[in-house]
Amino acid sequence: MSEQVEKVLVIGSGIAGLTAAIYTARANLDPLVLEGDEPGGQLSLTSEVENYPGFIEGINGFDLVQNMRQQAERFGARYEGGRVVRIEPGLPHTVVLDDGRSLQAHAVIVATGATARWPGLAGERDYIGHGVSTCATCDGAFYRGLKVAVIGGGDSALEEALFLTRFASEVHLVHRRDTLRASKIMQQRAFDEPKIKFHWNAAVAGFVGTPEEGLRGLQLTDVKTGAQEQLDVDGLFIAIGHVPNTQFVQGVLDLDEQGYLKEGVVTHVAGIFAAGDVRDHVYRQAVTAAGMGCQAALEAERWLAASALG
Ligand code: NAP
Repeated sequence: MSEQVEKVLVIGSGIAGLTAAIYTARANLDPLVLEGDEPGGQLSLTSEVENYPGFIEGINGFDLVQNMRQQAERFGARYEGGRVVRIEPGLPHTVVLDDGRSLQAHAVIVATGATARWPGLAGERDYIGHGVSTCATCDGAFYRGLKVAVIGGGDSALEEALFLTRFASEVHLVHRRDTLRASKIMQQRAFDEPKIKFHWNAAVAGFVGTPEEGLRGLQLTDVKTGAQEQLDVDGLFIAIGHVPNTQFVQGVLDLDEQGYLKEGVVTHVAGIFAAGDVRDHVYRQAVTAAGMGCQAALEAERWLAASALG
């Protein structure tokens, strides 16, 4: 075990974690950021971000994350790879990594986000930014006048489908069963919307097109009969749920039934703070994650000062 005790350890390098790093670095707290399996988080998987305040023409998600990373680095933030498997609360806290290392920190900011669930189709990740998206709010406006499909039958899928009707000429909802899981009110709204067409008992079996030239369509399979059909669309939105990355805090922090943190930015464990999608399945926006990252950093700074540790 290393002897060094970090003042601030930020777990996660998405928008929430990087904002926490900017603020704590600027407060001279010398934060160490553990970047995790997906450095940069979900935003680094989107193409253009047009709704992050301050960028008139929008900004590429990857660039936004890189800018934040360098901004925090300018004030002294340090970065390391590594996935956390366990936190042992204490004074200081011990954070155990999957490679067997242990780190010690007075303040820990949990900003591990949530990961979109993917259907597991061959080549699906190659189409990110080339026709396949997990976020209609982020990418819907690129499909003005075009045809799109949405996979899923829950509230997220219907919310995405309804949102996409503002831009797309047709929205095809592809669901693996013949009844929706979504709330009745969302179902009614979707059934009342003439642009939304339903494909029941249908699974996406493959893509038509290439990542280079873009998506042109989907191969659908009827899961009951095995019949195949081609659906011509320019975009596919995947909305089959998110999985919060909270396995490593089970038993330490309170989780809801879906695994999201049921904690405030200041958690019930002294010196542990939480920010971003890991505690938010409602808004899930870059700007809200940044806001929480800022709150967590300011709270950590106050807590360290009050405990005479900062
Ligand atoms: P969800 O309720 O878990 O629904 C996921 C949907 O994706 C289900 O219809 C499921 O099919 C389908 N699915 C899962 N894995 C699949 C796969 N591998 N291939 C194809 N389809 C697959 O997730 P969610 O819609 O993201 O909602 C999560 C929670 O947030 C829910 O509690 C929801 O009510 C809430 N939420 C609320 C709102 C709102 O109130 N406005 C908006 C968004 C989310 P099956 O139905 O066959 O299982």
